Amino acid sequence: MRTASAEGSEWIDGFLFVANRPILDLLNTKPVLADGPTELLPDVRALEKWLIASGTVASAKAKATLQGWRNSPEAAIFLERLIAFREKLRGAVLRIEGGSAPMDAFLTEVNSLLLQHPLPALLHKRSGKVVREASFELTKPTDLWSPIVDATADLLAETEISRIRKCESCVVHFFDTSKKGSRRWCSMNICGNKLKVAAYQRRKRGDA
Ligand SMILES: [Zn+2]
Repeated sequence: MRTASAEGSEWIDGFLFVANRPILDLLNTKPVLADGPTELLPDVRALEKWLIASGTVASAKAKATLQGWRNSPEAAIFLERLIAFREKLRGAVLRIEGGSAPMDAFLTEVNSLLLQHPLPALLHKRSGKVVREASFELTKPTDLWSPIVDATADLLAETEISRIRKCESCVVHFFDTSKKGSRRWCSMNICGNKLKVAAYQRRKRGDA
């Protein structure tokens, strides 16, 4: 899956990609913008755009399948369930960031989805080398659970949980891949500069 660079390309097709993990950027599809909390996945068309922007759906065939679901009631139901799942995942991530384990009920739900929607990893040849890549066939909207719950399981079983963090200044979550592990902000462009200016002004006033 692709990762946005830190040099101002945090937004891809109207979505924020600052987390280094697309599953955390799924949480970031409800950021707080100038007008308050904003749902960036209001309909199936938006979900289609996010799945492509995040690299979750990459093949031309799968993209065409997605397009065919724009007016599908099943896709609308999937989106509704996905949004509910996103908010439960947010709860689990907030607990992890606070030093607690996710609730058992959420792990049970994830396990049930993992059993229903396994993500097979198959062998492919790439430039003469054999690589193992996750692959899933899209035949119905619920097949989209496979990459989502697989990434969720990876995140929850992450060994470096101290690197799963929330921005100090907003609701955005990220996985810190910096060498020192000292990243504090969603991005320098969005919150970093704002915080630095505030800290500078506090120091100038002498109340830091
Ligand atoms: Zn932020």
